[in-house]
Amino acid sequence: MITIEQAREKILSRISPLPSEKISISQALGRYLAQDVYSGRDIPPWDNSAMDGYAVHTEDLSADGVRLRIAYAIPAGSLPQGPFPSGAAVKIMTGAPMPPGADAVVKREDTGELDGEVVIRTTPVKGENIRSRGEDIRKGDLILSAGSLLDPARLGLLASVRKSMVYCSQKPVVAIIATGDEVADLDEELTENKISSSNSYTLKALVEELGAVPLYLGIARDTRDDLAGMFAKAARADLILTSGGVSMGDYDIVREVMTEGRNAMEFWKVNMKPGRPLAFGTIGGIPTIGLPGNPLSTMTSFYQFARPAILKFMGASNLLLPRLRAKVSCALRASGDRPQYMSGILERAGDDLVVTPAGPQGSGILSSLARSNCYMIIPEGVKVIEEGRWIECEMIKPAW
Ligand code: AMP
Ligand code: MG
Repeated sequence: MITIEQAREKILSRISPLPSEKISISQALGRYLAQDVYSGRDIPPWDNSAMDGYAVHTEDLSADGVRLRIAYAIPAGSLPQGPFPSGAAVKIMTGAPMPPGADAVVKREDTGELDGEVVIRTTPVKGENIRSRGEDIRKGDLILSAGSLLDPARLGLLASVRKSMVYCSQKPVVAIIATGDEVADLDEELTENKISSSNSYTLKALVEELGAVPLYLGIARDTRDDLAGMFAKAARADLILTSGGVSMGDYDIVREVMTEGRNAMEFWKVNMKPGRPLAFGTIGGIPTIGLPGNPLSTMTSFYQFARPAILKFMGASNLLLPRLRAKVSCALRASGDRPQYMSGILERAGDDLVVTPAGPQGSGILSSLARSNCYMIIPEGVKVIEEGRWIECEMIKPAW
């Protein structure tokens, strides 16, 4: 049976970033850059004041208490009215360009102004309270590389270098098909032999959370024809995700359809717990991940395989969940026959990070995952992790 890493590699080898499109940075939150961005200008564009105060020439201020005439004022948004007048001061606001010739700014708190003159109560050093041209970004600097996630600070950076439009990889359309005669959607009657199709909602939300476009096609009944009909509706998607129908049962038709005609199955089963039944192949040429049906397995396999696939389509350079190491707050027991992913709650405890199982870990149990913020990874061959030992965790929520 192939490992998680091998399975992920096989899936990723079938996927390339989608072509790019030029979009406004106002629409680009959560998208990934498809280009390197260089700055065409220095930021800040001129030497400017870091404080409200007085621009001075330090040579005029050999002692505390010197009184200087205020030659003129430079509000933010204005330009100096002339060269720096020797033996005088220029009143200046934060961010305003320095008058040429001044070499320091004395902040207002260290001064007193009266009748057009200012008393300087300190002896400033050269360069004090001046933000120099290009100290943030220099013209020609690479400010963001292709594959970067556009977050608020990066969008601000693009705006500051006047990049109003950028190239980002297009969003993939991800078709989602639930399967099973036993599952009912929310608009269907829940007869006594049925359970609610929670996977329809977790999968849609997982796809949306990544910034991709979910195309939810509903629930296929456990017949070849019904499923083939759904696959036909997915013909324009970039990726197809199914849930259920990939284990050993008589009605596990996703596997069956994946091996018919022009379709192809590349692998089935991954050495992990939960989530062993996973099928990957192509349906009508479209990469298709057959996720297991049990809700915890569905989500766990999504995070391991579908998430990196979607991020690769979107042009992201970072495809894997962020990892942290934490101390386990109680002994963990595992079967040891496969690497096990346990949902956990990772928290700060003093100077340490501590992680606690989020509850029962049965593959049909979703409530533990709903309480958790990470997976704890118990490697293959390990049956016990004693309390207080370190464990590798993969974060699935940004905050806790
Ligand atoms: P299967 O592999 O198709 O036999 O599915 C395994 C189990 O997963 C089923 O017995 C259901 O309990 C559960 N399951 C399948 N599909 C869904 C779904 N869409 N939502 C919630 N649970 C599901
Ligand atoms: Mg089924």
